[in-house]
Amino acid sequence: MALLDIQQLAARYGKALALESVSLDVQPGELVGVLGPNGAGKSTLLKAISRTLPSSGTLQFNGASLHQHAPHQVVGLGICHCPEGRRLFAELTVRKNLELGAYLRRDREDIEADMQKVFALFPVLRERCDQQAATLSGGQQQMVAIGRALMGRPKLLLLDEPSVGIAHRLKIEIFDAIRAISASGVAVLMAEQDALNTLRVANRVFVLENGKVARSGRSAEMKDDDHIRRIYLGV
Ligand code: ATP
Repeated sequence: MALLDIQQLAARYGKALALESVSLDVQPGELVGVLGPNGAGKSTLLKAISRTLPSSGTLQFNGASLHQHAPHQVVGLGICHCPEGRRLFAELTVRKNLELGAYLRRDREDIEADMQKVFALFPVLRERCDQQAATLSGGQQQMVAIGRALMGRPKLLLLDEPSVGIAHRLKIEIFDAIRAISASGVAVLMAEQDALNTLRVANRVFVLENGKVARSGRSAEMKDDDHIRRIYLGV
């Protein structure tokens, strides 16, 4: 059974239709990329899944409808949304930001163990753990945002453009960490505009254009797709 099963999903802002008949699935532990230009509906899709935006259609997680659940309950079910723009608590330390990701948990020892896992994934955060988040580079802040989402022990991690505005070297590190997260058993649905790196790390990719799925398939096949090569890889 798919971990996330979406059929005929639609979402609108007022009268404007932002998602139309989107069908997509994520299997347990799979890393799935969502590519598409600005305004294609990628953020809207992730917001619909985390229930921060109303939608219609089928939205099933672990066999149960997410439409029955409010956003805070969705977190409790095991879906953590790492939004575009990171949204850290800028004046708080790195450690405090990470602890806030575990706000629904009471298992203190396991929380500390998970914090150590985040530090193993992003060693620079261990060095900077007592620094205010605002003093970190954009790439390091993105690492905190991903780490904070992991502190909720998700089964499914939703990442909205994790590489946007980040220097090349850190970008590669972040994509490699995302692959490691999915290899550890956490499914990831990642909206991105960096097609090259997304096709490098993702198992499968969906391409959204004008709120609809224009293409989908395994990354290995999508790399040879003419439309993908021309529009997204520029070759
Ligand atoms: P980007 O990479 O720019 O974030 P995206 O693929 O994530 O693009 P969305 O942000 O999901 O795209 O936007 C999809 C459509 O919905 C666009 O036409 C956008 O203008 C519109 N839209 C997004 N947010 C709102 C909003 N709060 N109110 C009205 N329309 C919106």
